[in-house]
Amino acid sequence: MPVLRLPRIYVPTFCAIRIMHFGPRGRINIIKNFSGEMSEEAYGGVMRCLLCGSCEPECAAGIKITEAIRALKMHLAQTR
Ligand code: SF4
Repeated sequence: MPVLRLPRIYVPTFCAIRIMHFGPRGRINIIKNFSGEMSEEAYGGVMRCLLCGSCEPECAAGIKITEAIRALKMHLAQTR
């Protein structure tokens, strides 16, 4: 059974709201599954990312999280 690593204290929006869409893992999953449409809940999770970069040093996969989220936020701002 895979171990779920929850965001720790360095993830400000997840700590405040406690919904996976508001943590880096949830946001990256939204980006991976994005096909042009997304729920209001997912949209809120992405758009409320502070782009603070606190999650990047903790990412074991070395994903440029803020770069990916910034790109999606720009796309959504232009198309939605
Ligand atoms: S960059 Fe976004 S996802 Fe990463 S810790 Fe900051 S608010 Fe959370």
